[in-house]
Amino acid sequence: MSLYPLFADLRSRAVLVVGGGAVAERKIAALRAAGAVVTVGAPALTDALRDDVARGTLRHREGNFAADWLDGAWLVVAATGDRAVNRQVAAAAETRRVFANVVDDAELSSFHVPAIVDRSPLTVAISSGGAAPALASHVRARIEALLEPSLGPLADLARRWRTRLRTHLPEPAARRRFFERHVLGPVADLLRRGDAQAAEVEFARGLKSTSRTAQGSVALVGAGPGDPGLVTLNAQRALLTADVVLHDRLVPAEVLSLARRDAELVDVGKQVGGKASQAKHADQDDIHALMLEHARAGRRVVRLKCGDPFVFGRGGEELEFLAAHGIPFEVVPGVTAALACAAHAGVPLTHRDHAQSVRFVTAHCRDSVDTLDWRALAAERQTLAVYMGVAGLEALRARLLEHGRAPSTPFALVENGTRANQRVVIGTLANLVERAGAHAVRAPALLILGEVAALANRLHWFGTVPLGEPAREARAA
Ligand code: SAH
Repeated sequence: MSLYPLFADLRSRAVLVVGGGAVAERKIAALRAAGAVVTVGAPALTDALRDDVARGTLRHREGNFAADWLDGAWLVVAATGDRAVNRQVAAAAETRRVFANVVDDAELSSFHVPAIVDRSPLTVAISSGGAAPALASHVRARIEALLEPSLGPLADLARRWRTRLRTHLPEPAARRRFFERHVLGPVADLLRRGDAQAAEVEFARGLKSTSRTAQGSVALVGAGPGDPGLVTLNAQRALLTADVVLHDRLVPAEVLSLARRDAELVDVGKQVGGKASQAKHADQDDIHALMLEHARAGRRVVRLKCGDPFVFGRGGEELEFLAAHGIPFEVVPGVTAALACAAHAGVPLTHRDHAQSVRFVTAHCRDSVDTLDWRALAAERQTLAVYMGVAGLEALRARLLEHGRAPSTPFALVENGTRANQRVVIGTLANLVERAGAHAVRAPALLILGEVAALANRLHWFGTVPLGEPAREARAA
């Protein structure tokens, strides 16, 4: 079932509630809070409802349901607890084109009442379309915890300033930016501290000092290794406020879906670590030009990179370029592949008994292979996390062995780390190239080499068991 969500204005509108028990009492209270003029129809009422009727704040139709009770009603709620009566109400309402809600009966209802998080005038409504009310209330509880109580006063303040804000900033993009930077920042902080007056003053001050034309900016954001759960809250916030997202190909769709709904998504197609893609992909200069163009047009650009933007991501170059062109920027770190792959393969990067240091290295081209300090890399009791290494495994093994690393040094090669299709291939430096070949390991993959890699066999917890160790494979088969 697919429902059309709507928020109804019930002020001064007649609503009928059939049933006079405790459930009806709750429904009536909510309807009256929204300004509805409620008539309750039932043979008997709770004490509280009877008091309301006596006080003249509630109309009562006594007796058993009759279709003409619906005359003039915009909505009806059936809360009798008697399915036959509820069915009668629903049928009569259907004939008269009055929307009916039957409490706890999705099938008989022509409208549903959602679970709500109330930060009036901000209201979040949640529905599972009747499929799982318990799930809806679980989600409600989670959102309840997420939305601070000061959002109510904030929405109220925004409502009072709405007209002035529109006059001062006619551009929707400029308004949105003022809201994100100023209202959600300093103004919200003051409300959180309970100082409504100072918040009001700050709103006015901010509006006065905000120019009418929007200033563009770039956020260099780390998207993490692929699992959307490893996207930081700051990265989420940046994505939610982006006008344009320039992303690497390695960033999966689940992460991109966190972006603001009408943000423009541009795949700048750097397929790091793999073969150059068939499709035309932007080179670094094109990416620089795109960032500049969008930022100069006043847009909020998110440059989204896999992992962390400062770890083999050319983030440094991009910032130098932006700084040289006077574009404001910020950086949001991400969980880099080495940390994520190690965690999800059960390989502690350092370990009191096995490794006192860890190095992040890349070995994807001749240049990088030739310029590395192999003597230092071949030292024992340290861990190497090798990025973009699938193509260079043979050279890597040769150099390490040449410089004295033991052939028995364990490795764990993690392909698609943290994703549903993660694979871990294990072995020793001696059989590294053959094992990787036998299992056809593809990018993105990260090599962890060092004594700690032996632990992958015992500590794996995520995805399928490690491949490559014969005893294990036999057991898994
Ligand atoms: N900035 C990124 C690294 C970019 S270089 C970061 O901090 O993680 C791209 C390389 O990162 C890939 O070739 C691969 O070695 C590694 N990588 C990125 N995501 C990965 C993943 N989910 N699983 C395994 N390796 C990954």
